[in-house]
Amino acid sequence: MPPFNPVFARLPTTIFTVMSSLAREHDAINLGQGFPDSNGPEHLRTIAAQALIDGPNQYPPSAGIPELRRAVAEHNQRFYDLRFDPDAEIIVTCGATEALADCLLAMLSPGDEAIVIEPAFDSYVPIIRAVGATPRLVQLQPPDWRFDEEALRAAFNERTRVLIINSPMNPTGKVFTEYELSVIAELLCQYDACAICDEVYEHLVFDGRQHLPLMCLPGMRERCVRIGSAGKTFSMTGWKIGYISAPRVLAEVIARAHQFVTFTTVPALQKAVAAGLASEPAYFTRLAADLQAARDVLRTGLEDIGFKVLPCHGTYFINADFSELDKDRDDMEFCRHITAAAKVAAIPVSVFYEPGNPNAPRKLARFCFCKDTAVLAEAVARLRRYFAQGS
Ligand code: GLN
Repeated sequence: MPPFNPVFARLPTTIFTVMSSLAREHDAINLGQGFPDSNGPEHLRTIAAQALIDGPNQYPPSAGIPELRRAVAEHNQRFYDLRFDPDAEIIVTCGATEALADCLLAMLSPGDEAIVIEPAFDSYVPIIRAVGATPRLVQLQPPDWRFDEEALRAAFNERTRVLIINSPMNPTGKVFTEYELSVIAELLCQYDACAICDEVYEHLVFDGRQHLPLMCLPGMRERCVRIGSAGKTFSMTGWKIGYISAPRVLAEVIARAHQFVTFTTVPALQKAVAAGLASEPAYFTRLAADLQAARDVLRTGLEDIGFKVLPCHGTYFINADFSELDKDRDDMEFCRHITAAAKVAAIPVSVFYEPGNPNAPRKLARFCFCKDTAVLAEAVARLRRYFAQGS
């Protein structure tokens, strides 16, 4: 037997890679993997390009260039009135994916438990298991992704060290309410646990709602680490610049995990992201307004066709129940089928649950709307034609 870690040996390839390949194979519009079809703000690309030419192009400090660490700290203060020491409490990573792994590596030991709220982003559970800890899964209930206080309470025990919360939440589009956050905060205090707050969609919130970091609640400043992603905030998912804001004691150990995962990340991109985080308020409001308009185009189109569309208050994603359109297929079969037959790719929502979980929804497809409205209109037209002729 080759020397495999069983956690990774048993994992399938991530659904995002699978569906993007399938979309390419069938020349389908890819509303699966979440990435914008624009190129990102030109002035940030210009800063990055110039910095690549001018240098420096050698290792930046492991925690990130001072300019970006300062910008992350200022962004925290500006939007949430959270104060951080840029020299001791901010760590720049290779995307939020690395940030999540660093935090889990730093905060969990074998035998610990980590609470994960399903449906969950697919990187959380494998890393928890790889460090020898145990995920405790708590489900939200569709269609409104209700938060079950008793189920959450029951998941906590004396082995609980960490809870991961993703708000605004992929794939549900849920933005956790202040009440829900206060329940989580109370439980974290009661069990002396910490939260890893995956807030990569912090600026992608719609309909006048506000994103509220768990870290802003009383007693939470020292119990939370907040993770952001330039990929989402600046619509350049390929840049892979993430940032962690954490209390000093946690940041110190997370930085040690980070130093042996990637050590550091591209200096020219860090410089551009620093400029981006200092953008005028209009940049952030426009980003959300454009995405909200795109969401509405896709939502209306899907509803017209006969999908039952679930609420979406944030992120890049909207979920649609296809029970009325296809009685037989489950979500995996349905998403593969429409990619080939209607030439529109989507992501089956059941992949965000533990395999074999009998409570995972089987009739929901996640569609990504961070695309040009003409592309969304064409996707809707293809689906409409396809379902009009009978699937
Ligand atoms: N977060 C993206 C999504 O949910 C995909 C990220 C990835 O491909 N690793 O679609």
